[in-house]
Amino acid sequence: MDIRERKLIEKLEDKGTLSPDEYEQLIILRDDQALEMLGRLATRKRKAVFGDAVYTRGLIEISSICKNNCLYCGIRKDNSEAKRYRLSKEEICSCADEGYELGFRTFVLQGGEDAFFTDDVLCDIVASLKKAHPDCAVTLSMGERKRESYQALFDAGADRYLLRHETADHKHYELLHPKEMSFDNRMRCLHDLKDIGYQVGCGFMVGSPYQTPKTLAKDLVFIEQFKPDMCGIGPFIPHHNTPFRDEAKGSLELTLFLLSVIRLMLPDILLPATTALGTIDPKGREKGIMAGANVVMPNLSPVSVRKKYELYDNKICTGEESAQCRGCLEERIKMTGCRLVVDRGDSPRVKEK
Ligand code: SAH
Repeated sequence: MDIRERKLIEKLEDKGTLSPDEYEQLIILRDDQALEMLGRLATRKRKAVFGDAVYTRGLIEISSICKNNCLYCGIRKDNSEAKRYRLSKEEICSCADEGYELGFRTFVLQGGEDAFFTDDVLCDIVASLKKAHPDCAVTLSMGERKRESYQALFDAGADRYLLRHETADHKHYELLHPKEMSFDNRMRCLHDLKDIGYQVGCGFMVGSPYQTPKTLAKDLVFIEQFKPDMCGIGPFIPHHNTPFRDEAKGSLELTLFLLSVIRLMLPDILLPATTALGTIDPKGREKGIMAGANVVMPNLSPVSVRKKYELYDNKICTGEESAQCRGCLEERIKMTGCRLVVDRGDSPRVKEK
């Protein structure tokens, strides 16, 4: 390993921070040995905060209808071949009931920006879920909304919100999104969510088109300063009916590298080993855990809709029942020396409050 690389890793472990230029160098100089060293240090930090616990969140994909046209996403509005569906309140609640029996204590409702889910509709669903399962956390991942909307959903009982920032570089953001969407509004949303009191998750795709070590360094600096409770990162995977259909997918190795870097920056962060990571490598999620991740998000959506929520090609786990997914993951996590726990898995920072 390059001696400069070793020094940067040691500094990161010691101080939890590097300058933007140093982050960029860290990424450029990386090799297999650096990846191995970072993984070792990152799992040690994770163990110090979380022991051997890995948290689960049951993902319920509530709608594939979306008004946006993000260039990377398979459910973008202009994909006329996308199969569209939306789950009813009853379907969502029954997915959660099934998940509860399986040991899930967090439910994540994710979907496209579907106008059907007005504040009234979504607040009613959130309140019903919280009433049925008061010991569970409800996470929303429904895209950009007005501050008042985020507030109403929080008041209805939502605990957390996931909204990936996608990239912390203004120009890069514009290359990934249509002109109707703006970097400033994305940031506005993230700051509003935090201000309201949500546990907030940001994140980005690794290897998205036009991403460079410089834009990645900006992502790291943003994450360090924003201090999200969670950070979702997974490889970009092209979808065959989007403008990015011919772009290269993101790499396993760089994703693992960045998971470790983020763990060293923010030791108490919740870091999922994503489904996208499991899609590009059969052991991707296990490798993610061994690089410092501590969350998995198996699918609780009805099997009948799973293939329709197609953000990218070849998504895994679209055929199994929820119980099978849980069992399969339990085995996979065991292989990493960790264990899947029955717990809400709140951010340690929130428990302190
Ligand atoms: N509408 C919600 C949910 C989006 S889907 C929102 O705006 O937050 C969740 C995440 O999937 C996105 O934030 C994006 O980072 C990721 N994603 C979308 N298309 C992808 C692709 N082709 N490959 C990998 N990840 C993708």
